[in-house]
Amino acid sequence: MSSSAFTQSPPRLGNQYADDRVLRSYLARTLSPEEMALARPALERLGALAGGELTEMQRAERALEPRLEQWDAWGNRVDRIEVTPLWRHAEEIAAREGLVALPYEAPLGRHSRVLQFALVHLFTPPTDVYACPLAMTDGAARTLSDSGNAMLAERALPRLTSRDPALFWTGGQWMTEATGGSDVGRAETVARFRPDEGWRLYGRKWFTSAITSQMALTLARPEGNAPGGKGLAMFYVETRDADGRPNHLTVDRLKDKLGTRKLPTAELTLEGTPAIPVGELANGVRAISTVLNITRLWTAVAAVSYMRRGLALARAYARERIAFGSALAQKPLHVDTLAALQAEYEAGFQLAFCVAELTGRIECDAASESQRTLHRILTPIAKLTTARQSVAVLSEVLEAFGGAGYVEDTGLPMLLRDAQVYSIWEGTTNVLALDALRAIGAGGLAPLQRETGFLLEGVRESRLVALSARIQAALEAAQDWLGHQAARDDARLEAGARRFALSVGRCFAAALLARHAQWSLEQENDRRALAAVLRFAQNGINLIGDPDLELSQLLVDDK
Ligand SMILES: Cc1cc2nc3c(=O)[nH]c(=O)nc-3n(C[C@H](O)[C@H](O)[C@H](O)COP(=O)(O)OP(=O)(O)OC[C@H]3O[C@@H](n4cnc5c(N)ncnc54)[C@H](O)[C@@H]3O)c2cc1C
Repeated sequence: MSSSAFTQSPPRLGNQYADDRVLRSYLARTLSPEEMALARPALERLGALAGGELTEMQRAERALEPRLEQWDAWGNRVDRIEVTPLWRHAEEIAAREGLVALPYEAPLGRHSRVLQFALVHLFTPPTDVYACPLAMTDGAARTLSDSGNAMLAERALPRLTSRDPALFWTGGQWMTEATGGSDVGRAETVARFRPDEGWRLYGRKWFTSAITSQMALTLARPEGNAPGGKGLAMFYVETRDADGRPNHLTVDRLKDKLGTRKLPTAELTLEGTPAIPVGELANGVRAISTVLNITRLWTAVAAVSYMRRGLALARAYARERIAFGSALAQKPLHVDTLAALQAEYEAGFQLAFCVAELTGRIECDAASESQRTLHRILTPIAKLTTARQSVAVLSEVLEAFGGAGYVEDTGLPMLLRDAQVYSIWEGTTNVLALDALRAIGAGGLAPLQRETGFLLEGVRESRLVALSARIQAALEAAQDWLGHQAARDDARLEAGARRFALSVGRCFAAALLARHAQWSLEQENDRRALAAVLRFAQNGINLIGDPDLELSQLLVDDK
């Protein structure tokens, strides 16, 4: 090989807090200067780790995966799971930085969730989905803290919200069974009570992530209860007994997955696992929805953070990579491609963090009734919108690297593979679209339209004013569609639910970003958020259509 053979310089990342204009600008608008002063050291610390040490570790251990050791040398069932060094390190950092603890300590009052998720946004991309156990831990902590079950709260909360890595516990959520993850009401796990043993669970859980967790919230049907979701109850279990052995359960195997490969996701058999009911012995699906609200928010922020990571790399690469005489960053078509993606990130960011703000308000009892309604509607919508965005954006990010984007040791394919899970777990796109319809209910889009009006009332820049009218017209059209379909038939309403939910998500994200763009023009003299929102709207905000149901059925029945 000639010594002058060309080698491409790889894209480099700096401090991920300092480099993320979108995050910094959002925090500057949302937090007071005093809150910012409290938040900044942790943001800078995690930003440095995310662009440096953690990313280096992630690259170095790319080929490692968790290992399940089912038996020890002497034939004892041990079901030990060895995670990778990055995961062990991530757990320590997460505990010390209070990634779960923050909203329970609430140092910034109702803005504590904003700080927590700003840190999660920095922490997630370089830690190989360690955010998954953290999300479930937060969901479990919130649920136990709201449950009124003082015994369980006292036992588990100090651990789930600890900043001491030696005390810190993570939590799991075991809902999905082979019968269904969407329709969990079909779950077959049985709960039996015996006066001498208390409650014990028998059944098979089909997807249990982060099976390294010390506790889990799960669903089971107390013997004699009715079928369906109402007959299930939510139980608390600890995964290991006092001697550290599996607590009357076996880890049958770890799933061999497309992505999230560092996350041990197991199939479990519960063989009389001791369990404690968290609350009533029924309505478990409703009870576990507190966990889901939190994990859906974590998923939305993770989806956004992955878009940001992909784009940070693609923009850095575009400045380095030369083709046809100049850097890609100077090619009008490459610029057009990346600009469309950056716009998606900026809008998704505003949507996810809006839900974080609402969550923080509710937890601090600072939310009005209409903010609670918005939170209920926007949680599924933000999750499904950002999840779909992240898959589309990361697919384009890979292409923006050409062949390098398809090569494993660049670390790029992993981003796309991981992102694909965001639209599946914690409710698929379709399931969440139907959930959004239920949340919207008879009240229709009025609360969202009112909020959009508030967001846009301060908009002055002429293009933002024109865009505001377009957003409001699109929401009006969505409301008309809803009213019209509801009056016609359920099948049409269901068939259009996904297009409807995505339209609402995109319209509301555009309104949030337009409000931010006006602020950024005035306070930062910066036109980039303006550029983002105009481009985002060009990507499309109204996806509503009314395809013929019978013709659709023809296509699906086609053999
Ligand atoms: C990596 C990974 C980790 C996971 N970890 C966990 C975990 O820790 N705990 C846990 O409980 N679960 C976990 N899951 C499971 C996950 O939550 C489920 O896979 C998901 O909820 C979907 O359930 P399902 O797989 O049974 O698919 P199904 O429910 O069978 O859905 C199949 C398809 O049908 C669609 N569909 C279903 N109902 C409707 C409807 N009414 N109308 C229109 N379309 C519909 C869905 O959108 C989907 O596209 C994990 C999954 C993955 C991939």
